This record gives sequence, structure tokens and C-alpha cells, in this order.
Amino acid sequence: MRLSQFHLHTSKEIPADAEIISHKLMLKAGMIRKLASGLYTWTPLGLRVLRKVEHAVREEMNAAGAIELLMPSVQPKELWEETGRWEKFGGQLLKMQDRKEAWYCYGPTHEEVITDFARNELASYKQLPVTFYQIQTKFRDEIRPRFGVMRAREFLMKDAYSFHLSDEDLEREYRNMFDAYCRIFERLGLQYRAVFADTGAIGGSASHEFHVLADSGEDAIAYSSGSDYAANVELAAAAAPAPRPAAGEQMRRIETPTQKTCEAVAALMGIGLERTVKSVAVVGADAEGAPQFVLALVRGDHVVNEIKLAKLAGLGEYRPATEAEIVEYLGSEPGFLGPVGPAKAIRVVADRDVAAMADFVVGANEAGYHLAGVNWGRDLPEPEVADIRNVVAGDPSPDGQGTLALCRGIEVGHVFQLGRRYAEAMKCSVLDENGKAAVPTMGCYGVGVSRIVAAAIEQNFDDNGIRWPEAMAPWKVAVCMINPKKDASVAEAADTLYRDLAAAGIEVVLDDRGLRPGAMFADMELIGIPHRVVVSERGLAAGTFEYRARTAAESENLDRAGVLARLG
Ligand code: ATP
Ligand code: MG
Ligand code: MG
Ligand code: MG
Repeated sequence: MRLSQFHLHTSKEIPADAEIISHKLMLKAGMIRKLASGLYTWTPLGLRVLRKVEHAVREEMNAAGAIELLMPSVQPKELWEETGRWEKFGGQLLKMQDRKEAWYCYGPTHEEVITDFARNELASYKQLPVTFYQIQTKFRDEIRPRFGVMRAREFLMKDAYSFHLSDEDLEREYRNMFDAYCRIFERLGLQYRAVFADTGAIGGSASHEFHVLADSGEDAIAYSSGSDYAANVELAAAAAPAPRPAAGEQMRRIETPTQKTCEAVAALMGIGLERTVKSVAVVGADAEGAPQFVLALVRGDHVVNEIKLAKLAGLGEYRPATEAEIVEYLGSEPGFLGPVGPAKAIRVVADRDVAAMADFVVGANEAGYHLAGVNWGRDLPEPEVADIRNVVAGDPSPDGQGTLALCRGIEVGHVFQLGRRYAEAMKCSVLDENGKAAVPTMGCYGVGVSRIVAAAIEQNFDDNGIRWPEAMAPWKVAVCMINPKKDASVAEAADTLYRDLAAAGIEVVLDDRGLRPGAMFADMELIGIPHRVVVSERGLAAGTFEYRARTAAESENLDRAGVLARLG
């Protein structure tokens, strides 16, 4: 590519609304332009990078045996009613009507569509197992779109879905996809961690998230110092033996949901964040009087009925603890509990099963489902921001080996064992070896293709701009010419080198825009080209080019063969 024939539009300004480095650098480098909240144009430069990620994902999916297809973005309401998600999915689902006033949504995910495809397409066990995937634009009406393409409303996802007769076969494919994800993130040069995850709104039995590690990440990850255990904090909190509160410490031990959980619950409920979830706390005792944990959702001035939440949390034997039991358990008088009622004690669990909570919350305003008139700040102390987390560094690891440390991550991939719930709801079956109808079990596997671009920058930048891992760079090498107008041989030599590199199959960009060297180098550094070769009058006189890696402090002089050898 000759830059004079490309559209590169960098800027020195630091955009005011960009909070994190990737958002700033993507705007400065001119990779994306905002159209509206959560909606971005990928410029020609940005698109080159996006396509690199897409390419790596596609190659690894193909190598892992997944088969590409492409489903519609717009999906009919009727499909979503079959699974009950038209209502349940909540505010993230963008609903719309056509001219006949029939309802559709813009797909935030494709479980319904693929299951519809499968029930029409798959008739026999001989067609299983099979894994389909697509790379496609999704829309989710996020409560708080931010950080550019990191949390956008419209974004590019790779989503794959697998179909199996047996649970064992699903587990095999899950492992296969897990391994393919590891290869994708390694190939893209990212530092990542796979963690146990909650199955959340999509549901299912097993799940891992893949996180790119970065301080700006919205997710917290807990990992063990003494083993391979790693989980998102929500799950670590649910799995960890929660510590017994010390006397007088009850208030600090009421853990509250993370910002993310609040957002997720609010999204599922389709309400604004300001007047929504203030706390998810845990309360009660089992039938033997042992302290138990139940989610109590405080919304506005309502406390949701904890018995119903106990059922959702799978605590069949739950009953509210008596005041005496609570006092005994806590070892002190839980005075602040007064406004909530006489029979409630405290304990943890937040962020668990947000979807199930949302199901429940549908009834939250019915009479008898909540205790009215309770307000954080007024009746209960406002929780400290520092308390908004579920596990703390130093807590014992749930696997009993070592203690937990915390770090932050950006969720770039997510694999699920869905089980049969979608296939059952949508009456998808195939004939098994005995000619009997069998409902297939399913897996689903997502990668945030566009989010990866931003996540990679969070790990690869310096004061001068982006430092792309080679697999993601818009071009591998930039050929820059110094004062080409003054000396025609410079332009000629640069052009020859450019063509030699291109002929050798190296992705090269020729900066023939005629900028001064400082501005030209600054641009190439800002947009993160991994290698730079400078063609100058002085170099030509010595028979050399000046070569420098984006990550190196010094340049070296190499002849033509040296440059080709270095970059080949
Ligand atoms: P998050 O927790 O960040 O909201 P999610 O768990 O809702 O993500 P999934 O349903 O697991 O997302 O979708 C698969 C992948 O799609 C995610 O791992 C993430 O990389 C990407 N993704 C999800 N939401 C967005 C978004 N708003 N913008 C960009 N990428 C996204
Ligand atoms: Mg989400
Ligand atoms: Mg998530
Ligand atoms: Mg996820």
C-alpha cells in the first residue's frame, strides 16, 4: 500500500471523552470514528486490524473443525418466544417492527437462530457432532457503552455452536474449542488467562471466560497462588467458604454487587441504573439453623423476598433465621437489621445468577414480594465502595490450595456447555442409532473480535503510540523516505525496496506522503507498525537502509539483503 493512495488521518489531540488508553490511541491513530453512542465506523486503517483478528479467529476455528456459515442479524420475535428470551433477555435486546408491524430483534446472540437451523437441517445422528460458526455484527443495547469499541452497542463477534448426542461428546468439543481459543490468543500475542465463569444469562452447566489481563479491565479475576485455579470473582465468591464475620463487623461483611452486576441486573430488568439494584446480600439459615446465604435484592426502597430468592439459589431447605440464631451466629446484636425485619441475618453472595435473579425480580413489585420502605443511606448505612467486591486478596482459594490474588481482565472470549435447554425448548431432535428421536446437547463459544483490537492495545503501547503484536499490525513494515523531492534516487530506491518486500510476501506500506521525517515517524509509531525502514540520501551513499523495530531503542544500518533477511 502506498500511503498517498490510502486514507490515514491521525491527530495529536487527546480526545476529551476517551478514558482508557486504547480508546485514546484508536481515536488518535484514526482507527475508529464515533457515529453515536456505542456505534463506530472502522476507518480503512482500523478495518485492516479488525480483519487481522478475524483472520486469526477464522483460521483457528477452521483448523479446529468448525464450519462457517452466516445467519441473519435480524431475528423474528417468534423464535425468541420459543425460548422465553423475548421477555427475559431484558433491555439489551433491541426490538423493532417491520412495515407489517411484525416484531423482530437485532441479534445480540444466535442460540435461537442456530437451533432453528439445526432442527430443520439435522435429521440423523450421522450428522453429529457438528460445530457451526459465524463472524458477524451483534447489537446489544448496553446500559453504559464506553471505552470505544471495548463496550460498544454494535460489535463484531465470532459465535460458534456445537451439537452432540452425548454429554461426553459435548465435553470433548468444549475442550477442543477451549484449546482453539488458547491458540487464537497466543497467536495474537496477547497475555490472557482462562477462568471459570458463571453461566449467566445464557445458562448451562460449565463455562470459562478468556480474559486479556489489563488494569483497565471491567472484570475482576481471582486466581490462586498455589494452584491453577482461576475464576471470575463472582464465581470465586460463590465457591469460596465465606469467612465468618467478626463481632461488630457485620456491616462490612454485607457484600454488595459489583457495578457490573448492577448493570447486568438493570439491563435484564430494563430499568435505569440510578434507581435500581443497590445491594445483593445474603440472609438466613437452613432448616437446621445453620447460617445460609440468600440473595436479597434492594431496589429503590424495596427489599425482595428472600425466601423466593433462596429457592432460586437452590437452598431448598432455607427458612429465615430467627433473631436468636442470627445473634448467636454473628456473636453480637445486629442492630442495623431492624428496618429489614426481625428475621434476617447477613452474609455474602453477590453477582450470582443474575439471570435467575432477574426472573425473580419480575415479581418484585407484587404485594408481599418485598418489604417496602427500606433505603440504603437512610435505614441502612450506604456501603463503602471498597466493599463492592466478593472476594479479597488473601482469601483461601476454593480448591484449598494457596490463597487468592486478584487482577483485572477484559473478557474477550467465553465458552459454555449449554446442555439441552435450547434444543428442548425449540423441539430440535435427531434420530439416534436405534431410530429413536434424541434431543442434542449443545455448546456455544463466543469471541469478541472487535473488543480484541482494543484489548490488545491495552497491553501494547508506549508514549509514542500503539505497538501492535505482528499478527494484528495493519502492515508489518513501513518504508519511509527522507526528502524524496530533493533527491530522486531516494524515491526510486524506496519504491524498489517497497516492491521487493511486497514481492517477498511481506505486508508493507510505503510512506510517500511527502511529510517531514519527524511527522512521518510519529505517525508510523502512533499507528504501531512493528518495523520501519528509512531510505535516505546518506544511507544510499553507504549502500544501506536504516532499520528499526517498533520496540527497539536503536536503529541499525542494513543493506538490501539484510533488510529482506530481517523481515522475511
Ligand atoms: P461482558 O461481560 O463484557 O458484557 P458478555 O459476557 O455479555 O460480555 P458474551 O455474551 O459472553 O458477552 O459474548 C461473547 C463475547 O462478546 C464476550 O466475551 C466479549 O468479548 C464480546 N462482547 C460482549 N459484549 C460486548 C460489547 N458490548 N462490546 C464489544 N464486545 C462485546
Ligand atoms: Mg454483557
Ligand atoms: Mg461477561
Ligand atoms: Mg460472557
